[in-house]
Amino acid sequence: MTHEQPTISVVAPVYNEEQLIEEFCQRVAAALEPLGEPFEIVLVNDGSRDRSPELMRAIHARDPRVKAVYFSKNFGHQLAITAGTDYAQGHAVVVIDSDLQDPPEVIPDLVAKWREGYEVVYAVRAEREGETWFKTVTAALFYRLIVQITSVNIPVDTGDFRLMDRKVVDTLSRMREHHRFMRGLSVWVGFKQAGVPYRRHARKAGDTKYPLRKMLKFALDGITSFSYLPLQLATYLGFITAALSLLFLIAVVMMRLFYAGDPIDSAFYGQASTLAMVLFLGAVQLVSIGIIGEYVGRIYDEVKGRPLYIVADALGFEDESQPYSLRDRR
Ligand code: UDP
Ligand code: MG
Repeated sequence: MTHEQPTISVVAPVYNEEQLIEEFCQRVAAALEPLGEPFEIVLVNDGSRDRSPELMRAIHARDPRVKAVYFSKNFGHQLAITAGTDYAQGHAVVVIDSDLQDPPEVIPDLVAKWREGYEVVYAVRAEREGETWFKTVTAALFYRLIVQITSVNIPVDTGDFRLMDRKVVDTLSRMREHHRFMRGLSVWVGFKQAGVPYRRHARKAGDTKYPLRKMLKFALDGITSFSYLPLQLATYLGFITAALSLLFLIAVVMMRLFYAGDPIDSAFYGQASTLAMVLFLGAVQLVSIGIIGEYVGRIYDEVKGRPLYIVADALGFEDESQPYSLRDRR
């Protein structure tokens, strides 16, 4: 097998996609062949429990341009993408989902923009088909929120479908943070960025691998990776509460001093109002501790310094023990 460096690497995470990977590889190859440049497809098996691993082996045996990385267990979508870009050898690396929601036919458009000199070319969802209204609405809100509260200008309505120049991939591969929000990191690194609009299709077969629980964790990873605002929220709430209680105190004292009759009786005293306030403040405090916990847990994960992912097997790479993007190639 010769190992000429491919111009384009296509990286795709695979988690229980047995119904789709054959078609996925065919469509990527069909989309890239007209460009007349050498390319590779790097499939990362993220601990699938179906026949995806065997299928990947068979596809690689038939077509050595298709390479495979096997995780020792499920590490999650973002880490699968990370491994793929670590192993990819191309001058440009395209990250795309293997469920055919991102049409491979868009890749040549991304490549064309890259040829114009852009180093990160992200695909922007102009339309989304076949998603539940819940997913569409929460995604739209989330991307708008994250733009508001973070210091990185993550383009609205982009996913992980994007092309990155070798320079960008090498930079990202050297950033080993654990809770990776790749679509944010690839913007954070800078370089010349451009967007290309596309229509996101419905998933071709199988179910979404992102249940609500994973979506929430993903959203929290995105926010905590790029914003301190949730932490500052406790401070703001503290100041607001202090100001309100001061006003309240002044009001109580004034009424005691200047009001005839017995005003304090029903208005301010009484179990119900006391209880409501105690519970409210207790809740605010618990939420604040929870927010701190989200950050502390993530700090703990970084401090432990475990590997981001564990590779059980890799097929088709010249040096399987050392991913290309992590090598010192100078
Ligand atoms: N995926 C993965 N590991 C996971 C979950 C998902 O590698 O733990 C892959 C999955 O095979 C697909 C991509 O990540 O190629 C996106 O997942 P999915 O399509 O389920 O997410 P959705 O498009 O519904 O947000
Ligand atoms: Mg999908």
